[in-house]
Amino acid sequence: MEAEVFLGLGSNLGNREDNLRRALERIGSVTGEIAAVSKIYETEPWGFESSARFLNMVAKAICRQVPEELLETLQGIETELGRVRGSERYSSRTIDIDILLYGNMVIDQPQLVVPHPLIQERRFVLVPLCDLIPGEMHPVLNRTFSELLEECRDKSEVRNFITPIPIAIGTRRRHGEH
Ligand code: AMP
Repeated sequence: MEAEVFLGLGSNLGNREDNLRRALERIGSVTGEIAAVSKIYETEPWGFESSARFLNMVAKAICRQVPEELLETLQGIETELGRVRGSERYSSRTIDIDILLYGNMVIDQPQLVVPHPLIQERRFVLVPLCDLIPGEMHPVLNRTFSELLEECRDKSEVRNFITPIPIAIGTRRRHGEH
């Protein structure tokens, strides 16, 4: 079995870009293939107060694991990348990986709900998802993802994150130096 899976990634602790990159590498090596990625967005924390903004993105992976196995794999990657689960529901984290969609599958188990139940309430998920599949239907809500984004009541800020250009600073030689 092979499924198109959409994963939501977020990080607001440490080197956030590096955390996303490392998570993608690990996901790719376990699932076999990252087929597409959204842009990266800088977003306000959702559900709790913090000055540390998140970087969020969505990735499409081609996955052979069944959903329960995939969830375990992703939780293993979160732990590997240094995430410590606290008692609070929402908190700062080096990396968070959610299963947003698993093909058109609908799952309602205590440990796993797919499509992720908060997709339609979070701009930080809908905006990057609409980079990839704006015209596709949500498997339960019978709305396309761009319609869900238009109708979303969440007004939190989601802005394009510009990756700094990796230039070496302070290494330019002055005239005459060797
Ligand atoms: P979080 O702290 O946001 O990473 O939430 C993790 C918990 O949500 C885990 O205990 C999962 O079992 C549960 N969960 C339910 N549905 C999903 C989903 N679609 N993707 C990821 N975690 C999920």
